[in-house]
Amino acid sequence: MRWRRTRKRLKKYLFERLTLTLIPHSRGSMRSIRLPRIVFIFIILSLVAYFVSVTYLYQNYFNRYKQALDTIVSLQKLKTENMTLKTGLAQVAKETEKMRKILLELEKKGEHIESLISDTSVATETNVVKDLILFNYKLLDDEGMQPLGGGEGEGLLKSNGFELLSQIREELRMLRVEIPLQKSILEELQMDVEEYNALMAATPRGWPLDDDGKGYISSEFGFRKDPVTNEQAFHEGIDIAVWYGTPVLATADGKVIYAGWKSGYGKVVIIDHGYGYQTVYGHNSKLVVRKGQRVKRGDIIAYSGNSGKSTGPHLHYEVRVNGVPKNPIEFIKFR
Ligand SMILES: [Zn+2]
Repeated sequence: MRWRRTRKRLKKYLFERLTLTLIPHSRGSMRSIRLPRIVFIFIILSLVAYFVSVTYLYQNYFNRYKQALDTIVSLQKLKTENMTLKTGLAQVAKETEKMRKILLELEKKGEHIESLISDTSVATETNVVKDLILFNYKLLDDEGMQPLGGGEGEGLLKSNGFELLSQIREELRMLRVEIPLQKSILEELQMDVEEYNALMAATPRGWPLDDDGKGYISSEFGFRKDPVTNEQAFHEGIDIAVWYGTPVLATADGKVIYAGWKSGYGKVVIIDHGYGYQTVYGHNSKLVVRKGQRVKRGDIIAYSGNSGKSTGPHLHYEVRVNGVPKNPIEFIKFR
């Protein structure tokens, strides 16, 4: 009963006719519209719904627009960053390549030095240098130190590009310090080796005859009874008894400073080796070098004989150090 009454009242309320009168301020006739209340309520509700949705849509659109704007700005920032990184990486790659070339040159230098000293004890020093070079190669070959070309750089750009770049730059800076140091070490070593080799080439050593081991020492270095004058005299070299015409060999690299007849020595060759060394080869039958000629150790310079003050075919061999005769045996033994 109560429900029915309420419904009746609501119906009456909603469908009660209302008059909307429009009164113009200026002259003109009034207009009236008579409509049920529900129509007015509907119109008002529609207007409210319309404004709410317009406001919501506008807000939504504005938010999205702001988001897009932010994305564009951050993309542009990323683009600039990437460009900077790319430029930096290209520089680093270029420098790495340059250093690799320098290291390669250094390695070649090291190998050259090694070839110079392959038969001497200095070789261990070269190994130390080689290890140093290998160490540098390892630095270059470490992660991120590869020359960057094509897609290889992508990994670097992915994360912490700037951090990695500065790390690589720091390592390159260290290399730039390390490389000249190594270069100077190598150059010094090369100079040492060359000096050592030159000294070795200039030092008389070995047997001065190509005699198949048939010659023998018939007179030692030092005081002895002279075989010709029979008086006590200082023998400035050794005598090697050997067949007439046996090839006489230079015992070190050097320059012939005398090739000809000298009283006492007969047909003699004197070679200056530098570093104060000179060797003398006397009593030959034939000379095959001229004054001023450069000779290498082992070159044939004469053929043995019996010329000059001599009692039989032999080679008189002298080694002088700064003009002072030294016992040639020491140099023959020296290998
Ligand atoms: Zn002699």
